[in-house]
Amino acid sequence: MKTEPIWVIYKEFRFEAAHKLPHHQGKCRRLHGHSWLGRVYIQSNQLISSGPQQGMVMDFGKVTNYLDPLLENYLDHHYLNATTGLENPTSEAIAEWIFQKLAKMNLPGLYGVEIKETCTSGAYYSPYQFLTLKT
Ligand SMILES: [Zn+2]
Repeated sequence: MKTEPIWVIYKEFRFEAAHKLPHHQGKCRRLHGHSWLGRVYIQSNQLISSGPQQGMVMDFGKVTNYLDPLLENYLDHHYLNATTGLENPTSEAIAEWIFQKLAKMNLPGLYGVEIKETCTSGAYYSPYQFLTLKT
């Protein structure tokens, strides 16, 4: 079986935001904030062969161009229950929400989104089960 090479790049982003989880039994039920850390994963089976992005999956700066409007309009210094429309914005739900937003913006090679709400806790969302090639 012939296997194809695969490259996965990621771009990290940070935002400060409040949320509450109304169904939670403990303190997450209360309005509180986190310094969130996210990663967007982009995959490709080939590298760009010429031009200023030669040897790259995608220029990291290009990923930032997709993230900036989301950070400005929905995430950074916002109340996530209100801006995302998520009634229960867990890390899992926020990761999926960001993925869907980036997918609607047609971010090429979008593979997954990871969201950390504390140093030790986070979630990863991808609609793809494994790192397999998209055709
Ligand atoms: Zn929280």
